[in-house]
Amino acid sequence: MASSSREQDGQPMRIYRLFNKLKRPRSYAGRVLLICFFGTHIPLITFVIWALVKNPAFGQENWADLLVLLLATLAGTAITFLLVHGMLAPVRVVSQALGDYRQNKHLPALPRGLTDEAGYMLDQVQETLEELDLTLNNLARAAETDPLTEIGNRRWLVSHAEEQIARAQRTQTPLCAILFDLDRFKAINDRYGHAKGDAVLVGVTRFVKGELRSSHLFARTGGEEFCIILPRTSLDEAFVLAEKMQKGLSGQSIARLDPGVVTASFGVVEREPDEKDRSSLLRRADDLLYQAKNDGRNQVATSTLV
Ligand code: GH3
Ligand code: MG
Ligand code: MG
Repeated sequence: MASSSREQDGQPMRIYRLFNKLKRPRSYAGRVLLICFFGTHIPLITFVIWALVKNPAFGQENWADLLVLLLATLAGTAITFLLVHGMLAPVRVVSQALGDYRQNKHLPALPRGLTDEAGYMLDQVQETLEELDLTLNNLARAAETDPLTEIGNRRWLVSHAEEQIARAQRTQTPLCAILFDLDRFKAINDRYGHAKGDAVLVGVTRFVKGELRSSHLFARTGGEEFCIILPRTSLDEAFVLAEKMQKGLSGQSIARLDPGVVTASFGVVEREPDEKDRSSLLRRADDLLYQAKNDGRNQVATSTLV
């Protein structure tokens, strides 16, 4: 790592650094043009000096030839400037693409299949950005996904719930939250083993997913605790759904355990008209969940139904 992070410098960058010290021209193309200018004018200037040394009247005698030579050199310089500017396009395109990716995470579509060093640079930058983007997306997804059940985790829920709560506030539509926690899960682990416990978590996730619509947000927010956010859903609809899940879970075999072994307690709340705070919504759902636990588990608790 140390060697790759070291600045690529030394011999190849010396001339570039020298020109970089110039106050003017400031642009890269301008500096390259300055070099071209010397390149094209040195033969001309050398020739004129040499001719004048040989014959001081050379200027007067050959002014028309000299004028043609000067105009031709100026025309050559202008054409050189345009071509050099065009040839340096890959540097500008690459630097713009990198800046754009850094600021907006916008993947560029750089020209491909060009064969010189600049073409190689375009290929490398395009491929590097594509790989980087894929890696960043995978990391972002992994950071928001629960690896066991493959649904969103608490972090994922937090970011998406905020959006939905803001939307419900804006559109004045109802939004509900269901929090549920498996009952006596520690005992399931102790009795059947941790691997079976894991299979139960996966089985419960699969069952609950089957009951939800694509607009519902479902996340594993803790060890054996899950949360569902239901946009555009009234409290009585959310309660009916929670009861269906509670009865469905306790009435069927999960992870090949007998029906009734795996049960859960549920807390159901609706967002209050001015409740903008996700944590207050989930705190209320949590209070109800623990009320359901205290009242004997395997049941749904909710605030008063309208
Ligand atoms: P309650 O009905 O009050 O919720 O009791 P409980 O036993 O479900 O609750 P408790 O908080 O006492 O225990 C939760 C257990 O969940 C303890 C922990 O080992 C287990 N657990 C948490 N995450 C996982 C996991 O990923 N896999 C497995 N197999 N067990 C887990
Ligand atoms: Mg539990
Ligand atoms: Mg728990």
